[in-house]
Amino acid sequence: MRNLFNRALKLMTGKSQHHQFVASNPNTTIPSGNNRQSWFELDRLHLPEVLIKPNGTTHRAVLRVTETSPNYRFELEQLDPPLEATVPQPPEKQRLSFCCNICGGNNTDIALNLITDREASSCTHCGSSLRMRSVIQALTSEIYGKSLALTSAPANRSLRGADMSDWTGYAEPLAKLFGYQNTFYHQKPRLDILNVPESEFGQYDFLISSDVMEHVPTDIDKAFANMAKMLKPGGFLVLTVPYKPDGEHEEFYPDLHEYRFISTGGKTFLYNRTKNGTEQIYDNLVFHGGDGFTLFVRMFSESSLIKMLEASGI
Ligand SMILES: [Zn+2]
Repeated sequence: MRNLFNRALKLMTGKSQHHQFVASNPNTTIPSGNNRQSWFELDRLHLPEVLIKPNGTTHRAVLRVTETSPNYRFELEQLDPPLEATVPQPPEKQRLSFCCNICGGNNTDIALNLITDREASSCTHCGSSLRMRSVIQALTSEIYGKSLALTSAPANRSLRGADMSDWTGYAEPLAKLFGYQNTFYHQKPRLDILNVPESEFGQYDFLISSDVMEHVPTDIDKAFANMAKMLKPGGFLVLTVPYKPDGEHEEFYPDLHEYRFISTGGKTFLYNRTKNGTEQIYDNLVFHGGDGFTLFVRMFSESSLIKMLEASGI
């Protein structure tokens, strides 16, 4: 309530001469002129200008003067409408404005549930999602010590970075700012994180891997270890993956060895021949879209993810 009281005090001490006080009792007459002392003789005042907005709803505050000397003190007597009557808007009805940290575009009056949806396109200018903007927030915070929009970040071409199959919406501005390359599993410039040439080791100030590691078909520990090797000393990784806050790490296809997809009857199956020759067929596959290997092969748990990253040396 500090701001509320400061605002009220400002009004009461006459610094905002354009405002008018209204007595709570309609029979009470307010002295005209600048006789401020008489105003404070009222024990209850409506200050129509004192408005607060908890939960997005405007409330008019009714204050009571409790002390006039040496300083004016007030108590909050009533909020109109009462706070209890305020029902927070459900997320789908709440709306916010934000500036996109990728394209710099101003977005006004956007549904909160769209903005906070990890994958939904919520910037009306570049189509970025919360995940994309979060990657850029983490990246710029690490490089510049504070979160910056790519449109206002100073270029540093000596910083080398690489990404894996990421969104061109930020890959293109990143390539203008840094010595940066977006790589792909299925096309050039190619990077297979399980088979990284030694010439790539120790080359990068930063790596971005956004929703890729849940698709690496085998040996996820090796993938993390290779990323650690690719980084220069002091380099960093911006990583996003789907994960569970609790529970155990899950590998959906733990024995992948010689495998291929078979499509028949409108369905896709995964055929695998394990190292010891056992044949396996999986159905109910989950793909996350996009090109390359997009089969969802594991669900990390928070604790497993931290252990893997620590073991990799990142
Ligand atoms: Zn944008």
